[in-house]
Amino acid sequence: MAPTSASPTQADDLRRQGIDPARLAGLVTLAAPRETRTVHSPLDGSALGDVPVGTPDDVALAARIARAAQPAWAATPLARRCSIASRFRDLVLSRQAKLLAVMHAENGKSRLNAFEELLDTALTAGYYATNAERHLAPHRRSGAIPGLTTAYETWQPKGVVGIISPWNYPLTLAASDAIPALLAGNAVVLKPDSATPFTALAALDLLRQAGLPHDVMQIVTGPGASLGTPLIDAVDYLMFTGSTATGRVVAAQCAERLIGCSAELGGKNPMLVLEDADLDVTVEGAVQACFSTTGQLCVSVERIYVHVSLYDTFCRRFAERTRRIVLGRGAGWGVDLGPLHDQAQFDKVVAHVDDAVAKGATVLAGGRPRPDLGAFFYEPTVLVGVTEPMTAHRTETFGPVVAVYPVADDAAAIAAANDTAYGLNASVWSADPAHALAVAARLRAGTVNINEGYAAAWASHDAPMGGMGISGMGRRHGAEGIRKYTEPQTIAAQRGLPLGPPGGVPRAGYAATMTLGGRVLHRLPLSRPAAWLRPLVDRRAAFLGR
Ligand code: NAD
Repeated sequence: MAPTSASPTQADDLRRQGIDPARLAGLVTLAAPRETRTVHSPLDGSALGDVPVGTPDDVALAARIARAAQPAWAATPLARRCSIASRFRDLVLSRQAKLLAVMHAENGKSRLNAFEELLDTALTAGYYATNAERHLAPHRRSGAIPGLTTAYETWQPKGVVGIISPWNYPLTLAASDAIPALLAGNAVVLKPDSATPFTALAALDLLRQAGLPHDVMQIVTGPGASLGTPLIDAVDYLMFTGSTATGRVVAAQCAERLIGCSAELGGKNPMLVLEDADLDVTVEGAVQACFSTTGQLCVSVERIYVHVSLYDTFCRRFAERTRRIVLGRGAGWGVDLGPLHDQAQFDKVVAHVDDAVAKGATVLAGGRPRPDLGAFFYEPTVLVGVTEPMTAHRTETFGPVVAVYPVADDAAAIAAANDTAYGLNASVWSADPAHALAVAARLRAGTVNINEGYAAAWASHDAPMGGMGISGMGRRHGAEGIRKYTEPQTIAAQRGLPLGPPGGVPRAGYAATMTLGGRVLHRLPLSRPAAWLRPLVDRRAAFLGR
């Protein structure tokens, strides 16, 4: 795409902010000089800078450097590792003008959406800086023989963690997944998407300024198709974020090597507007849920099921509000949404909407490209009458397109929401917390937000975040988001009696005693939930229908 006007380009804006793409490109790990690829801004097509097209040799070198640095890093006190994450958080916040400029230019997202991502990165770094110790300190476990066996669970680093990240959240899906891996004592090799390397490189720059030893984290750049396999071959664990199609490929490769992997993949996320929803907040929430970052958000809502009694009013008000969304390429706070990311994204959105309309769907808002703003701009679009034969019915659009459906009752809404192979995120709207909770518990999705689209669950960094079904395996955030980068190890110390028959005791007598002990052991309160917990456990089981 050629620059669309003679006004200052995105590259000019970067220079004005004092950002030197060539210096950032110099942070890429290379075994030898390589050809380069030019990164273009989706906003105006201008060239932002060049990055090397890495080869498997570069990946091998990056992994070797990381592996050599890892033992000393793992031996660094956890408190010191956490203080680096704290400093990184502070730098992300204090240098936000530059980071926002890179994200805006490279990804095209509006300033508000870029800021939300930046804030998420800072908060995640802060969360793990404060909580890594809690998640990684040795935990006491029940021993084999109470009183005689002392058991602990400890967590050792995996070694070298590979991270493959996408373009849509180029800062947080690179840095926020790297931070817990690093705090757990691993070294990291990151391969960002080829379209957004400068954001990841800017994050690496800040991590090193925060005190991260140079060799502990490496970045390689180049196509996933040629660097993915060598990366998986060289690391001890893979953190992948991207499409379900690529996720299947990398998960199979990890399985072949018997290394673990966490795959955060696509979604076709439902929103349920229950009969007692407050439409004032629901309409506004739906706009955020469907269109943030121009719908190029894995947890974005693409299906809305509205109780039939609210359907007409909701559709009218939602369409009206959607038409007032401000599209633009400016970096100011007044712009709501930027463009789609590239030609492929633009073509997919056009294809999904055109296919739906050709097969009988109705456009309530949007439905048109906006070439007057730039090559990849497309209006946020509300569809009704979307049916099974239409691509947008089941396939992830990953753009600003949502279909609204009427439903007769909660059961119909829940059945429709769960009628998908995906299971990433869901959203329930109701003025009655107990009603919303009862519906939420019956949804098959890794996160369910009540009276929010996606941000409440995502930003609850102490709770796990990830997908069911073909939306992925593994979780980020919380204890799971850091322990996945470790090997759990059980250390059990025995004192007094051994676990086998003591010397001189007849084996038959030993077996009879242990048989009795086995029966008694299961009656001890230690092996059951405490009495005061039982009602809670039973209630939850009944609630979930189990
Ligand atoms: P993608 O799978 O095409 O690319 C993601 C990354 O994988 C890129 O870095 C790419 O270079 C790399 N890659 C491509 N082919 C590879 C291969 N054969 N081996 C190894 N790596 C390879 O994904 P995309 O289309 O760019 O991203 C959008 C998708 O990501 C959407 O489906 C979206 O829902 C999903 N996503 C999920 C989450 C989540 O947390 N669940 C977050 C963001 C995006």
